[in-house]
Amino acid sequence: MIELKTPAEIENMHVAGRFVAEVLSDVGRLADVGVNLMDMEHHVRGMIERRGAESCYWDYAPSFGKGPFRNVICLSVNDAVLHGLPHDYALRDGDVLTADLALRVDGWAADSARTVVVGTPAEEDLRIIRATEEALEAAIEAARPENRLGDISAAIWAVARDHGYPVNTEFGGHAIGRTMHEDLHIPNKGRPGRGPKLQPGLTLALEPWFARTTDRIVYDPDGWTIRSADGSRTAHSEHTVAVTTGSPLVLTRREPQNPATKGDSGDHLSTTDA
Ligand code: MG
Ligand code: MG
Repeated sequence: MIELKTPAEIENMHVAGRFVAEVLSDVGRLADVGVNLMDMEHHVRGMIERRGAESCYWDYAPSFGKGPFRNVICLSVNDAVLHGLPHDYALRDGDVLTADLALRVDGWAADSARTVVVGTPAEEDLRIIRATEEALEAAIEAARPENRLGDISAAIWAVARDHGYPVNTEFGGHAIGRTMHEDLHIPNKGRPGRGPKLQPGLTLALEPWFARTTDRIVYDPDGWTIRSADGSRTAHSEHTVAVTTGSPLVLTRREPQNPATKGDSGDHLSTTDA
């Protein structure tokens, strides 16, 4: 069942979304050479506690994970792209870090992810990060009531193809509301004009992610961290978006940061944020 939200419910989700954006901005500022992933995890725990928010990851136990997740943020480095389990690792110059965060504030969830380069960026790493950001903006632009779900998937896939990145279809976007994952899967590859019609009140987490040279994935022994099967580097960009009668409303948009220092260029591109 696809649940539509009222404007008041979307505004509740926007409150959660603004907080997710604030935390991810902080994580981006923190990401530096020598910083330990566990310090980032604890920083985020502190922010969540002070805000009285709830992590959607803590105790999350889907079929593929090995036991419940006992962290509040996913931190994935280099060839790791999804569900990276924070662990004792100090970031190195040139590392690519993906931070993915889903929180609930007053019972409403928002979910967002970003990839940044730590220290000196390699051009090819910036290229794949920008491609996922571009794909995300294209997906947002397609989240309109005259379109179908397949139009979003097709928009992401078109950007991936332009840049020459293969697309994995096992993990993609999803509907979101009171819980992080509501019952609608949004593959990052698909055909225009297919699937359910998009309706005002739909709230979706759109999340293109690519690996440079493969669409296959492997799991770490921790049962969570998902890596590109060939070890190639990865990037992931995600926003929570509401379909409205007008322009799509991005609920997790971050304030612009200096892209030159963080290799994150997406957030000043917005024309759809209200
Ligand atoms: Mg996420
Ligand atoms: Mg998500």
